[in-house]
Amino acid sequence: MKFELTEEQGLIQQSARDFAKEFLDPVAADLDRTGEFPTAIVKELAKHDFLGLHLPADAGGAAAGFVSYIAAIEALSRSCSAVASIVNNQAMSSYAIYHWGSADLKKKYVAPLIKGEIIGAFAVYEHGPTPGIGPDALTATKQDGGYVLKGTKAYVRNAGVANVYVVFAITDPADPKALTGFVVDATAPGLKVGPKHSTMGLKGCPVADVVFENVAVPEGAVLGTVKKGREIVTRTLALASIAEGAQTVGIGQTAVEHAAGHARERVQFGKPVGTFQAVQTLLAESKTDCYLARLALFNAAQLVEDGKPFETEAAMLKSFLARLGSKILLDTCQVEGGMGYSETMPIPRLFRDIAGTNLLDAPADFPDGVIAASIN
Ligand SMILES: Cc1cc2nc3c(=O)[nH]c(=O)nc-3n(C[C@H](O)[C@H](O)[C@H](O)COP(=O)(O)OP(=O)(O)OC[C@H]3O[C@@H](n4cnc5c(N)ncnc54)[C@H](O)[C@@H]3O)c2cc1C
Repeated sequence: MKFELTEEQGLIQQSARDFAKEFLDPVAADLDRTGEFPTAIVKELAKHDFLGLHLPADAGGAAAGFVSYIAAIEALSRSCSAVASIVNNQAMSSYAIYHWGSADLKKKYVAPLIKGEIIGAFAVYEHGPTPGIGPDALTATKQDGGYVLKGTKAYVRNAGVANVYVVFAITDPADPKALTGFVVDATAPGLKVGPKHSTMGLKGCPVADVVFENVAVPEGAVLGTVKKGREIVTRTLALASIAEGAQTVGIGQTAVEHAAGHARERVQFGKPVGTFQAVQTLLAESKTDCYLARLALFNAAQLVEDGKPFETEAAMLKSFLARLGSKILLDTCQVEGGMGYSETMPIPRLFRDIAGTNLLDAPADFPDGVIAASIN
């Protein structure tokens, strides 16, 4: 067993770091302040192949493998996890359409998503307890050789800027557990995006509700098989959990490095605060947490790349790394004292971004059921 990136994976990680330093470091604080969608950066990401790392060459992807994709997400997150989250969201849409879409859907959407010509959104969540249940549930009623969609998807990333929505609806109200996937063009009459939510972190990655007011879609818009959409949701969200773990490790690593730099510079009682043992403990624990988190992260990514079951490992990552990430941010904030608490320093933004990352696609404690069920 060798826990090391291959030469090619290492090169991709390095090129993502170089990209992040050149394009993300100069704008990360501004994105956090303005919340503007970084259109020009998405185009650059596409030019550098970062939107197609996870897909094979026949899809127009870079065929770099899932480990490289995760290495790139971590590297981008070290500078700006809002942008990494946009990349992950784009990847979820292209992954689902590539794996479950018809030839026509693939042709229409996958290459343009990889090239950054269009933006994708992956919409599962509804305001009710689970998709398919509640007054807002997205329903798909068969009509005129297609379906009519009615209902609301809530908290959708990239909503408003997306050109295509991968959504999940119930086709049979008597069977609300059976979801069906649909690929819906943003221009479809009746599709309306609500106001952008004013969120705590991950600014620059917009979140809004999407309302479907009798949106007619053709039969060909169905993703995979009718009533089998939950399989698409489960697999795609499990992959997304690993990418969210990579975001956490990236954010945590930046926080540790920044706090260590601060501890070297900040002098109290005639000594750098980093010479005090209590401060060293906070830094040492945070660095150790990042190291162990990275091992678990790349182990899960390697399982995906090897075609092995990975769902339990993805759930453990989501649950464990979310807690670890929050602890790292609390501890590094403590190391930086009042100075680090200032909005002119990166820790407040990293803190907000960790909170958002913990909630993406499911709260961090939701996967606990998957983990518990895996114990023999
Ligand atoms: C920044 C951001 C981006 C998002 N992007 C997307 C997206 O692109 N697409 C999408 O589909 N969704 C997206 N979401 C929605 C996200 O999936 C939901 O917010 C998430 O699933 C949590 O649901 P909730 O907010 O209703 O929390 P709640 O269900 O209200 O949970 C609140 C708390 O109660 C706990 N809880 C709830 N039910 C139970 C239970 N039965 N037993 C024990 N504890 C429970 C939860 O674990 C949590 O701690 C996004 C959310 C955020 C914050």
